Amino acid sequence: MQNFTLHCHTNSFGVFDGRSSVAEMITKAEELGFEAIGISNHLIWHPNMRPFSPMFFSDWNKIVDVFKRVIDEVKSEGEKHKIDVYVGAEVDFFPSKEWRNGFEKMLKELKFDYLIGSNHFLRNQDETFMCNLYHLDWLPENITEEEFNELVKNHWQNIIENIKSGYFNFLAHPDYCVIKIPDKKEYDEYRWQIVEALSKYHQTYEINTSGYNRINMQHPCDWMVEELCKRGVQTILSDDAHNVDMLGQHFERAENLLKKYHNQHRLTLDFLKK
Ligand SMILES: [Zn+2]
Ligand SMILES: [Zn+2]
Repeated sequence: MQNFTLHCHTNSFGVFDGRSSVAEMITKAEELGFEAIGISNHLIWHPNMRPFSPMFFSDWNKIVDVFKRVIDEVKSEGEKHKIDVYVGAEVDFFPSKEWRNGFEKMLKELKFDYLIGSNHFLRNQDETFMCNLYHLDWLPENITEEEFNELVKNHWQNIIENIKSGYFNFLAHPDYCVIKIPDKKEYDEYRWQIVEALSKYHQTYEINTSGYNRINMQHPCDWMVEELCKRGVQTILSDDAHNVDMLGQHFERAENLLKKYHNQHRLTLDFLKK
């Protein structure tokens, strides 16, 4: 069974949405007999981002400053422990030139060990409006069904562009939006596009086990995992732990799923050890 996680969150500096500290997460991972832990707080920056949460940034300098402190915190805490400790980020990707330029400049300033490509926002075409999946109540009251469907379509499109970008070591929870938006048969078409893109661009994807707690499924859904296994696309298990009790959650269930589909391609920690 996979005995590490690279996708988990902390409550660092009162900015992020984890409920345990870096020290608590590392200590718990050690107790569980993990070989390694990677801390990956949300990196959410966009020039048009509205500051509804302390972890949503529109000011480039502020987010660089916060992540410099996170990286220092994780590295110095990691030195006190026996297991390998890495620092990454779960990055909300946006396809515009403006976002890409800002992000590329950011990468020169911040020394992450790895990056997870993620998508938690519905957005309009030109990225002047975005709404987090957890704050759908921010949507305009008078939004039409057609307008809403357009935002959702752009969300799925965002995932495809995320895969094509080549920025990330692995893709987070591919069909996560169904946690907040009722699943529809027509979303299967987007799911197929994700399967095809992951395969074509040789992009590693995660199997996110946090969905078992909420809607009794992992992300991506069963048939996507089956198709991705057939195509030999590399995967990694992620607990997406937001507190110490969630570390390694449901890994056994996800391992059984991968066994069922004869998975042969796993991301190991080797890429971090170079
Ligand atoms: Zn996420
Ligand atoms: Zn996460």
